[in-house]
Amino acid sequence: MTTADSSDGPQRFLAPHLRSLGTTVFAEMSALASATGSINLGQGFPDTDGPESVREAAVAALRTGQGNQYPPGIGVAPLREAIARHQERFYGQIVDPDTEVLVTAGATEAIAAAILAVVDVGDEVIALEPYYDSYAATITMARGMRVPITLHPPDFRVNIEALRAAVTPRTRVLLVNSPHNPTGMVLTDHERTAIRDVAVEHDLIVISDEVYEHLVFDDRQHIPLATLPGMRDRTITISSGGKTFSFTGWKIGWAIAEAGLLNAVRTTKQFLTYVSGGPFQYAIAGALDLPDDYFATLASDLQRKRDLLAEGLADLGMQVFPPEGTYFITTDVAPLGFTDGMDFCRQLPHLAGVVAIPHKVFYDTTAVGQTLVRWAFCKRDEILIEALQRLRAITPATSP
Ligand code: PMP
Ligand code: GLN
Repeated sequence: MTTADSSDGPQRFLAPHLRSLGTTVFAEMSALASATGSINLGQGFPDTDGPESVREAAVAALRTGQGNQYPPGIGVAPLREAIARHQERFYGQIVDPDTEVLVTAGATEAIAAAILAVVDVGDEVIALEPYYDSYAATITMARGMRVPITLHPPDFRVNIEALRAAVTPRTRVLLVNSPHNPTGMVLTDHERTAIRDVAVEHDLIVISDEVYEHLVFDDRQHIPLATLPGMRDRTITISSGGKTFSFTGWKIGWAIAEAGLLNAVRTTKQFLTYVSGGPFQYAIAGALDLPDDYFATLASDLQRKRDLLAEGLADLGMQVFPPEGTYFITTDVAPLGFTDGMDFCRQLPHLAGVVAIPHKVFYDTTAVGQTLVRWAFCKRDEILIEALQRLRAITPATSP
């Protein structure tokens, strides 16, 4: 979601139905980090690039002219084939790279294309709240209706009764995200099965955002919803190379779905960007074939960083909700004496030289996320340690 702007302000040129869309909180907070020289634990991007071999593959593709001209609309064959191999290697999911895989400009475009493809005016989209900001924006662009299922601290579990009760004759889509940004929740077997049951019973389309699929901790397993019985033909699985390979700027994403459903997504996608990132598509194709230990080390390194930051934030007096996946930790800043997460995040660069993201902007039911704050830990250890050091400035002795 976005930080609000009034309709007679800079938003006045926007069509009225889009005026609730302001500047994304990520842009606002990253700009604040630059302006104040703060450590940016806000926007989720790593502070070290991914594997050298993958970077070199992009350079080689540029030099040898692979993808320098428009690639095919569905993406280059080596990438689609690598995505299919990846789904089979990690999840035993068999997909046809020619008809069931679509390469997009990041997961962001895949989400937009999927929503715009299947949501009509007034259709209801049930989504786990807090939502990743582009969900609310694209549902608004499609003139659909958001129906939140709120995840509550401390464990942010999915309330299955609430999910069942939320379905109406207008429900078109279940939009699911696991591992979940911003809470770090990873669906349990029980939750996945319940989501499946609701989708099958009501014949819903499921859009499953799995961009953090390889960032799961403590021996948990990511299982794509599409692999559950009855889900293959109704699920649009979305992921991207940004998180898995630490190249968030390359924006190589993808959607996987049964051919007919994927064709709907392809129809809208072709008029959003048509194609993008030609040479990077070849590099991510190679990355997807990296050996298993690359993926295991990524998760174990991040788990260690999670523990480092979680422990440090708890020592500062915040209530910490350690994530099961993703690279974000949620804390409650109320114990420090703050009553509003947005105010806290706007003051924090000035008080301590650190930037974080308020949960508040990811909710329709704002009261739940009022004092919750998200911290990214995909940073070098010394940066996390320095951030914790700086955050001592807001410990109860000095806070308001
Ligand atoms: N979905 C979620 C849940 C995210 O956190 C993000 C942010 N990276 C995206 C989608 C967008 O991914 P991409 O950068 O590949 O567009
Ligand atoms: N996904 C990133 C996050 O949640 C941000 C991506 C963006 O800036 N749109 O922090």
